[in-house]
Amino acid sequence: MRQVILGKSGLKVSAVGFGGIPIQRLSPIQAARVVRAGLDLGVTFIDTAASYGDSEEKIGRAIAGRRDNLVLASKSANRTRDGMMGDIDRSRRHLGTETIDLYQLHDVRLESWLEISAIGGAMEALLEARRKGWINHIGFTSHSVETAMRLIEEPVFETVQFPFNLITREPGERLIPRARAEKLGFIVMKPLCGGQFEDAELAFRFLNAYPDLVPIPGIERAAEIRQIVAVVGSGAELSGKDRRRSARIVDELGKLFCRRCGYCMPCPEGVPIVLGMIFESFIKRMSPKLVTERYAGELIDKASLCTDCGQCQEKCPYDLPIRETIKRAAGLADDLLREYG
Ligand code: SF4
Ligand code: SF4
Repeated sequence: MRQVILGKSGLKVSAVGFGGIPIQRLSPIQAARVVRAGLDLGVTFIDTAASYGDSEEKIGRAIAGRRDNLVLASKSANRTRDGMMGDIDRSRRHLGTETIDLYQLHDVRLESWLEISAIGGAMEALLEARRKGWINHIGFTSHSVETAMRLIEEPVFETVQFPFNLITREPGERLIPRARAEKLGFIVMKPLCGGQFEDAELAFRFLNAYPDLVPIPGIERAAEIRQIVAVVGSGAELSGKDRRRSARIVDELGKLFCRRCGYCMPCPEGVPIVLGMIFESFIKRMSPKLVTERYAGELIDKASLCTDCGQCQEKCPYDLPIRETIKRAAGLADDLLREYG
């Protein structure tokens, strides 16, 4: 497996990492089998999060005895010092490690950065955790190009994790060149468009043109990681025929795919638009019980406040059918509550 240095962090990782969202849906034994299949193929980089249900615990069990050769990354969306400190400590225990190689601020936006960097904010905990040896490096994840462009300027960050795929290509214009210039390691989330793009061959041929970036596809089956490692290992890029085929698929999917950029927000009625837009992909990728407990009630209650004013759709640069999607998501949430509530 080709190795990549994650920018100024100096962390050396396999050219493709293991994304820990989908293993929430698996039993601990199945999860261990999938994680170990990745390790056996030479994957040395695993990314998870405090908020991914029991993903950290499953990974911790799966890597027992094999920790030394791995680079572990996790993240927390906690914005306060105490909350972040608690999450980092829990992540260490769940992953069964004294030190987490890379800890990231999860899903940052400019508004939350103000809270994170204020006195008593989460950044204090990250710096303290690094001093204590609980974590080695600090990064952030975001879905907003503006936020990422701003945070890249902060010397504390050594990596950025951002979506980049056949549909979400905007980062290739400004963000990736800027991250390279500032020597931040670039971790690619959603290389398969959050599970919506089924053709891994095309998705990873596209990314093979960016060999200094490290994609972390969410993996649920050993066959998936085998296929992805083979495509990345081949180094093959999109052929002319691939480009034509992917253009057709992207054209179709792009009309429905929410980039989580947040341009449609805020809703004057308080409808959690982005949650509504990505709810269906949550159901596909996370534990249905967890999705029910965490999100279904909130979505049903708040989606009912929508007055159909249409402001969100006017602001979405991708012309997504937001109102229709939120209504469908609320219906799915209702079904989930009946089954798991
Ligand atoms: S609905 Fe449109 S504007 Fe809103 S987060 Fe999704 S892609 Fe962005
Ligand atoms: S259409 Fe509904 S969700 Fe969109 S901004 Fe108006 S009230 Fe909010």
